[in-house]
Amino acid sequence: MRQRAVRDQQRLDSGAVSSPKDLESLQREITSLAKRQGDLEDVVLEIMERRESAQERVAELTERVGAVQAKVDDATGRRDAATRELDAEAAVVAKDREVVSGAVPADLLKLYDKLRTQQGGVGAARLYQRRCEGCRLELNITEVNDVKAASPDTVLRCENCHRILVRTSESGL
Ligand SMILES: [Zn+2]
Repeated sequence: MRQRAVRDQQRLDSGAVSSPKDLESLQREITSLAKRQGDLEDVVLEIMERRESAQERVAELTERVGAVQAKVDDATGRRDAATRELDAEAAVVAKDREVVSGAVPADLLKLYDKLRTQQGGVGAARLYQRRCEGCRLELNITEVNDVKAASPDTVLRCENCHRILVRTSESGL
């Protein structure tokens, strides 16, 4: 379009067009082309402004993504460290359990494992102040008397939750 305007202007300046009607038409075209060029320049300017604001937004979002990623990295690092700690602790506990379970009679260990599976991971509970610490229920007087009468190596069970009851000096008997 710009080339056409230049060409028109050159034709006008060269004097090759002599008819007043042609001159007028050429002049009109030059004016019209100039106006269209102005309009297009406005459009280009607007597009450039929009591109600039889009670039700013991209930069802003990129920065936010970076910040979120840093948080994710930090949380992942802490999670991994905690997992390693728990794994190490689990290994120690598993070893301890192996030692302890080696000293427990096989049939009692079998009962304990069965109860543990049934009772959400707790197969034995301490009897503390006449209360089963597995289900938190207090033993009634008959149960207390039964416990009192039982020999020390009798395996006691909670009447309520069926867990193995472990007697201690604080059982309240
Ligand atoms: Zn119980």
